[in-house]
Amino acid sequence: MSSLYVHIPFCVRHCEYCDFYSEVASERDIDAYLNALEREFRLRFADGLAPETIFVGGGTPTRLSARQLRRFGEIVARYIDNARLDEFTVEINPGTLDAEKAAALAAMGVTRASFGVQSFDEGFLKSLGRIHEAGKAAEAVNLVRAAGIQRTSIDLIFALPGQSLDQLRSDIARALELGTEHLSFYALTYEDDTPLTRDLIAGRVQPCEEELEREMFSVIGDTCAKAGLPRYEVSNFARVGAECRHNLVYWNLGNWHGVGAAAHGMFDGEITENAADHRAYTRALLEENRWPVVRREMLAPLQRAETLLLMGLRLTRGFELARFAAIAGQSFESACGEAARALTRQGLLEVTPSHARCTQEGLLLLDRVVLELANGATSGAPR
Ligand code: SF4
Repeated sequence: MSSLYVHIPFCVRHCEYCDFYSEVASERDIDAYLNALEREFRLRFADGLAPETIFVGGGTPTRLSARQLRRFGEIVARYIDNARLDEFTVEINPGTLDAEKAAALAAMGVTRASFGVQSFDEGFLKSLGRIHEAGKAAEAVNLVRAAGIQRTSIDLIFALPGQSLDQLRSDIARALELGTEHLSFYALTYEDDTPLTRDLIAGRVQPCEEELEREMFSVIGDTCAKAGLPRYEVSNFARVGAECRHNLVYWNLGNWHGVGAAAHGMFDGEITENAADHRAYTRALLEENRWPVVRREMLAPLQRAETLLLMGLRLTRGFELARFAAIAGQSFESACGEAARALTRQGLLEVTPSHARCTQEGLLLLDRVVLELANGATSGAPR
C-alpha cells in the first residue's frame, strides 16, 4: 500500500500564527513550479504510480488559478494510475475558492475537500490574519458539493486568546451545521518568530489558560461524540468510516511518497525530504534535471518503532503490537514492558492482547507517554 502527498507552497498572504513553509508567489513562479512538479513525477515515477490515497496540501493549493489547477490535473492524470485510488483530498482555503476552481478539482478526481476554516468568528479570523470572512466557509462547502465532491472536513483552531467556552461551542455548532463528516481541532501554538508570538512576548496578547484549554479539549470531544463524530485521533473526529484514510497511513507508519518543495516521504523505513525553497526546487528540476532531495535516511528499527509510538498513540485505537514487533524486531513487552506497566498503573495507557493505546487522560499527556515508552525502549537497546 502506498500514498502520495503533494505540497503546494503558496499562500495569498502569511497568517499571523503560521510557521509552515509557504510564499506569496507570482503567477509565473507558480507556472514554473507546476512544470517542476511534473518533472519530479517524471524522474521518480516514470512507470506511473498507483497510490491508494492522495493528499494535496500546503500552503494553499487553491491559491492556484483555475487554469493552474487544470494543469495540475493534467499532471496527475499523466502520472497517476487511479485503479487503486480510494481517497483524494485537497486542502482548501475558503477565501480562495470559486465555482471554476471547484469544477477543476472535481475533474481531476478529488473526492474529499479539507477546509481551513479555523473559526467562524469575524474577530478571531482577523486576529489570526486569515484572508476569508466567516460566511465564506459555507459558500466554499456548497461550491465543492455542487461540483460533485461530497466528502468534507473542517479544520478549527481553539485556545485562541480571549476565546470563551461558549465561543468554541458556537464554532463547533456552525461547523456541524454544514453537515461535515470530519472535524480537526488544533490548539493555537506560539511558534518561534511568528507575528503572533512577537505579540505574545510584547504582552499584546494573552494566551489561553492551561486549565481552560483542557476544558476545551473535553468540550470538543463530548460535543463531537454527541453529534456522531467520535474522536479517532487526538485532534480528529469523524463519522464511523469517514476517517481520513491518508492521515491514517501516517499514523500507522505506512508508506508514502512526498512530492514538491518541502515535502517529506517515508517508504519502507526510508525518510525523504525535498528542498524547502520553491525556487531552489524549481531550479534543480528544470535546469539541472535532478530530484532536489536534501535528505534520504534509512531509519534503524528502533527509530522506526519510536516513530510508531509517536504516531500510533495519537490514535484512540492505538497501534498494533504485532506491527511494533515487526518494525522493532522485538516485542512491545520486551522493549517497553516496564515503562508500559508504570504508565498503565498511572491510568495513562492500556495494553490489550493486540494493541497499546492511550486512555483519555493519556491523550492529554501524550508527549509524556511517548517519551517514557521511548526511553524504556532505548535503555540498553542497540541502535
Ligand atoms: S493559509 Fe495556511 S499555510 Fe498559508 S499562511 Fe495561513 S496557515 Fe499558513
